Amino acid sequence: MAVLVTGGAGYIGSHTVAELNEHGFEVIVLDHLLNGHRQALFGTTLYEGDIADHKLIAEIIKKHAIDTVVHFAAMSLVGESVQKPLDYYEANVCKTRALLQTLAELGVQRFVFSSTAAVYGEPVQVPISEQHQTSPTNPYGDTKLSIEHMLRWCYNAYGMHSISLRYFNAAGAHLTLPIGEDHRPETHLIPLVVQAALGQREHVTVFGEDYETRDGTCVRDYVHVMDLASAHRLAVERLRHQQGVDVFNLGNGKGFSVKEVIDVVSRVTGRTVPTIYGARRAGDPAVLVASSAKAKEQLNWVLRHSDLETIVSSAVNWHSRHPGGFNE
Ligand code: UDP
Repeated sequence: MAVLVTGGAGYIGSHTVAELNEHGFEVIVLDHLLNGHRQALFGTTLYEGDIADHKLIAEIIKKHAIDTVVHFAAMSLVGESVQKPLDYYEANVCKTRALLQTLAELGVQRFVFSSTAAVYGEPVQVPISEQHQTSPTNPYGDTKLSIEHMLRWCYNAYGMHSISLRYFNAAGAHLTLPIGEDHRPETHLIPLVVQAALGQREHVTVFGEDYETRDGTCVRDYVHVMDLASAHRLAVERLRHQQGVDVFNLGNGKGFSVKEVIDVVSRVTGRTVPTIYGARRAGDPAVLVASSAKAKEQLNWVLRHSDLETIVSSAVNWHSRHPGGFNE
């Protein structure tokens, strides 16, 4: 029996593929390589194609006796989703619907879904638990929530068991393999600050310093990508014996402000980070911090690398060795 990872050549996908391989799973990757990188996979079988391609998915499932799907393939930029909502509903909701249809027809009954903290919207209570209301403030979060809803009904109708993992801010890079963050364009804070510190970009702009937080900048919960990968592997294992539909938050439970991130990057690199202070970014809540108590208790999830120094050091290591991302 094997695991199909869609979007397995992407950032979190490729770290999860490495984790599954390390734990002895047979892994097959499906990725259209528009955002993913072939170089992020090390000998894992890769099919280049689309999750909505019924014929291809059916072929892969039969050929490799796939019994579990870990689904990352998606468009995932909050800002872009506000500009192009229909592209997001098409790529995320419509295509995942097509994928689920194929899985239901072929009797694949285990599904791990890459969801997001963006399903919560503006938090009413921090830290955010899984019981918190879901009220996304952007199309990206709404597409992910729609898929979570589809999964509930797929269990009801087809007996498809699923676990949705709602992550907070994924960051860092693999500690031993040459894989890390390579988004084009890059929009995430930690890679931008690290690249500015290393002289790979001119500066970083802090989006707003008038929030009601300890230093006026937004507070986020950064979690190491390898810890996220281990949570996906634990979810795959759990679905071997656990039935039904479940949802887990994945965060480290500690919030860091934008200024604190910049300070840690300065400390780790020994360099000053060229910084500009700019306006708020639309749609940014002041504070997003997870309660991951449920994942720790029920998935036995252990955070091993998510202190901010380790996250930043691993990112510094990746960006200094790969200034052009996977191209260099
Ligand atoms: N941020 C920033 N400058 C940037 C990119 C991000 O100040 O160039 C801030 C952003 O406002 C947010 C935090 O850094 O408070 C994390 O943003 P990111 O885009 O990495 O993740 P998000 O929280 O949007 O998922």
